[in-house]
Amino acid sequence: MGLIAKAADGTCRASFKAAAPGSASAKAYLDLNINHSVGKRGVNNARDVLAVQQALNRIGPELAGPATILKEDGIVGPKTQRAIDDFQRRHFGSGKADGTIDVNNRTQAKISSLQPPKLARMSSMVTFLDTARRCIRAAEAKVILAMAEANGAPATTSALAMVDKHFAVSKSSNRNLAMSFILSVFRDMGGIFARTGMSGATGWSMYFEAEPFTNTDLFAFTWFNGYMEMGVYGNVSDTGGIDQPWFRHDTVYLSAVLDKCSDDDRVQTIVHELAHFVGPSSGNSERVTDNAYGDADNPKMIALDTAKRIHNAECYGNFAFDTVFGRSPAHAKHS
Ligand SMILES: [Zn+2]
Repeated sequence: MGLIAKAADGTCRASFKAAAPGSASAKAYLDLNINHSVGKRGVNNARDVLAVQQALNRIGPELAGPATILKEDGIVGPKTQRAIDDFQRRHFGSGKADGTIDVNNRTQAKISSLQPPKLARMSSMVTFLDTARRCIRAAEAKVILAMAEANGAPATTSALAMVDKHFAVSKSSNRNLAMSFILSVFRDMGGIFARTGMSGATGWSMYFEAEPFTNTDLFAFTWFNGYMEMGVYGNVSDTGGIDQPWFRHDTVYLSAVLDKCSDDDRVQTIVHELAHFVGPSSGNSERVTDNAYGDADNPKMIALDTAKRIHNAECYGNFAFDTVFGRSPAHAKHS
């Protein structure tokens, strides 16, 4: 189990709740809700087929929705089947296109993630992804300067002081090793944005995706070291013990609390999540986990030693934000 989810109270936990397909809370999000499979070897109940046709019709051709609007008749004819086939082929590759939308599986999830409210979240988050990227680059440069200062360069930029403020590296018996670890995490974050497919209007969809179901109490969730688990799905249960085969390991799922939090918290959360995502895997003692939360001056954060700080996602988010903006993130109250 490598899932890590940031909740509305600001803490992260290794579990989450999935809304039951067809439940009122899921429907409130305009996601695709079906009770039985649809497509080539599907049960094809008229109500479910109609829901698929309506949901596909809300997705533009540029995101692999149907080229022409499907007739919403509740029947899987050649055009509806072709639309399912094309959608799967373009999002998952030919090898994963079986022509059937199973309940709670990846096709249902992907169609849900591309419904209008989720796309609205992603289109506003693109701006914050860009800002997060800027913070990550600045953080990387700052750590390099701090390492130079630690090895005798003049402290003209106060870079070491900044790194110490967040990571307390000067209290470590091996300051250079601690800073090398921090640097490797920021470099891997930067590497994500440089991967093929991350440019262009929908490039974010390679590593960031709106959460397909309904967790109104989460900011985001992801997988420890998920960026090294390309194309891996499932092997994760919700709080009810039900396997979630739609879950992609190689993505950061952006959830509903982000829709109403402050701009600063959006940026900080992206960097925080990416620290989990690129840090070592969940079985590794070096993974970037959650040892404390809050701003840099929070007593629980101050109490952490160097080792706890360099393995604490919140420190990465705070440091990167501070490097660009020279302050802590401003927080908005969530209802
Ligand atoms: Zn976390």
